[in-house]
Formats: sequence, structure tokens, C-alpha cells
Amino acid sequence: MSTIPTRPDFLIVGAGVIGCAIARELVRRRAGSVVVIDSGTPGAEASAAAAGVLAVNSSRSPRGALMRLKMRSAAMFPELVEALREETGIDVEYRTTGLLELAFDERDARELRAVVAKRHAAGEPAEWLASDRVREMEPSVAGDVAGGVFFGDDNAINNTRMVEALRVSAERGGARFLASLPLRRAERCGRRLVAAVAGDVRFEPGHLIVAAGLGSRAVGEIIDAKMPIRADRGEMVALRPQQPLLRTTVWRDGYLVPRNDGEVLIGATSGRGKTEKVVTPASLELLLRRAARMIPALAGAPLVRQWAGVRPMCTLRRPMIGPVRGYENVTVATGHHRSGILLAPVTAALIADSLLGAGSAELVAFKYKKKP
Ligand SMILES: Cc1cc2nc3c(=O)[nH]c(=O)nc-3n(C[C@H](O)[C@H](O)[C@H](O)COP(=O)(O)OP(=O)(O)OC[C@H]3O[C@@H](n4cnc5c(N)ncnc54)[C@H](O)[C@@H]3O)c2cc1C
Repeated sequence: MSTIPTRPDFLIVGAGVIGCAIARELVRRRAGSVVVIDSGTPGAEASAAAAGVLAVNSSRSPRGALMRLKMRSAAMFPELVEALREETGIDVEYRTTGLLELAFDERDARELRAVVAKRHAAGEPAEWLASDRVREMEPSVAGDVAGGVFFGDDNAINNTRMVEALRVSAERGGARFLASLPLRRAERCGRRLVAAVAGDVRFEPGHLIVAAGLGSRAVGEIIDAKMPIRADRGEMVALRPQQPLLRTTVWRDGYLVPRNDGEVLIGATSGRGKTEKVVTPASLELLLRRAARMIPALAGAPLVRQWAGVRPMCTLRRPMIGPVRGYENVTVATGHHRSGILLAPVTAALIADSLLGAGSAELVAFKYKKKP
């Protein structure tokens, strides 16, 4: 193994989707040398646990600065997917079949019609479908479906492949990834971070970028900067039905996401403050019940996998993206909660802009600061 470059221009802490996307963007822009350290295996934490839904028009989040960022990021995917295929040969399984949200009773239908009206008022696409149209779009849906909404622009991606492709692309561009190397200690001199010690290695980076997901809180303590990141555990299950599901299908808090290999992912629970990566019997029962309510045939499909991941949730209710206060050479990109896969491309672009001196008005809304 070649020697570790201990004085990189950029040292990224965390090799999840955010750290990998930033590394790729920096090498792509020839910004300087990049080293990415991870306390475990790159890509193995929240980014591996996700469902890969790129929810924009179907999202109930307020239409503010964060939603604009999500829309901008969603629009970056077609080009990114092609670029990653060229750079790495990896197909990230970008599915442009849209998202179908179901109504099973009057209450669901009322809520969905109200969402359609709001989306139309904002100029966003959303199409109300009568029950027969829903069953045309997804023939395996339960026969008593009352209607639904088709969000044609809400796509999906295979998140594990996406993280791998981002990492491989960054590596081919010259970035070094070092696994099993947790950041342990940092030294500062005035407004500069002068050293970062990870495992037994002492780095003297030009700039430190914190992209450690849930671990960002502890990294914040090491560098003496408050990073209010909390855990939100999500449990998931995968089935392999005989009939493939055609598109992402949602009912209330439950969703089904088809993968190219025929698996259907069922998501997801939300356990605030829970960090143990386990799937409980109660959650398993809930997820399978919701899935069978949408697609009855799933009740007889083999269960192939179950897993849990911990979403990094910021108490400011938005990600933290930008320079860290009190430092001139530390930047943060964390707290992407339920949308880190979706937000990775735009986060990488904003961080690279900020590091290379091309500030962006959008960054201001997400800059590290105590109060939003
Ligand atoms: C069940 C579930 C479903 C989801 N579904 C979706 C979805 O459909 N769409 C979507 O957009 N998002 C989804 N998400 C959210 C998304 O997965 C996260 O927002 C995203 O993965 C966060 O990426 P990250 O790189 O910040 O964190 P992570 O992927 O957790 O990466 C952080 C990395 O930092 C490393 N690290 C931590 N501490 C240190 C340290 N001290 N030193 C060195 N390295 C360190 C960790 O080992 C880890 O590899 C889902 C999440 C879950 C759990």
C-alpha cells in the first residue's frame, strides 16, 4: 500500500453519500488533493440503509429554501447518473417511473386531492387518478383502492450503487479513501485547525470537511463546534415477489420501492433517539402489514433481507452545509435526515463552490449557525 498523504488540501471525515459526493466534486474540479477517512467501511452506514427515493413533488415538506435545494438536486440526477456510468461503468439504477401514492378511504382521498390542488397552485406536477387508472398503472394494487396520485417526476435510485459509484469515481480522480480510521483528536491555532489525528495517523490538512452523518455530533465535540445531530432510526425489509412492482408505491407512512433485481424494499420506521441498528418484531409486523395492504400478493412473498440504519437528523430541522463558525478552514455537510441521497449532488456542488470561493446565495440559508 502506498504511503498515506498526511498533508492533503482537503481531509473529509466520513465516507457516506455526502463525503463521497464531495470528494468526487473536488477532484472533478481539480481543487487539490483529497483524503477521505471513515471510522468504519465507506458507505456502510445510513447511506447503505436508505431506500433511494428522490421525493420532491410528493414530499409534504414546506416549499421553502430546503425544498428549492431538493428540486435543484433532483434535477442534477440525469446528468450525474450518466457521468457516473462513464467514469466508473457502474449503473446506479436510476428509475424514472415516478411515484404512485394510494388512497384506500375517503380520508386518504381528501388528503391527496388537497395535495394535488396545492401542487398545481405551485406549478408542480401531480395527477389525481381514479381507482381503475391506479390499477392500470400498478395491476397488483389491492382491489379496494379508492384512487391515487401520480407524481411523475419523483424518481428513485439504488443508493448503495450510487455511493459506490461516487467513491470509485473520486478514487479514479485521485482521492484516497482510508477505512477504519476514526477521527480522534484535533489541534487548533486561533481560527485554524492545524492537525487532525485519526487512528494513529496525524493529518495536517489545508481544510477539514465534516461529513460524518450521525458521528458529526462527536466530531463537533472533538473540534469544539456544536453540531446538533440526533439519531432517527429507520427499519426496512425487502421481499422478492413473483410479480415485479413497477414503481415506487406509497400509502400514508409506508412505501414500497422496486429494485432492478426484483426485490421490493418496504420502508420505513422512525425511532427518534434510537441508535441500535436492529429490527424489532413489532416494526417488522407493521412494515409487512402496510405492504400487504397496498399489494396483497406481497403477503406471500419471501422475506429476503431486513436491516436498520440511523438517519442523521439536525435539530435545526435542516441540513448544515457550509463553513463552521470560529474556523477559517473547517466546513460541515451533515444532518440530511431523510433526504441525504436526494441532496447529495447539490450538497457537493455547494460545498465545492464555497471552498473554491464561488459563494452561493443558497448556501447562506444552510450555513452553520446556531439558530436558523
Ligand atoms: C431507513 C432509511 C431510509 C432512507 N431513505 C432515504 C430515501 O429514500 N431517500 C433519501 O434521499 N434519503 C434516505 N435516507 C436518508 C439518507 O440515507 C441519509 O440522509 C444519508 O445517507 C446521510 O449520508 P451521510 O453521508 O451524511 O451519512 P452516513 O451514510 O451515515 O455516512 C457517515 C460516515 O461517517 C463515518 N463516521 C462517523 N464518525 C466518524 C469519525 N469520527 N471519523 C471518521 N468517520 C466517521 C461513518 O462511519 C459513516 O460511514 C434514509 C435513511 C434511512 C436510515
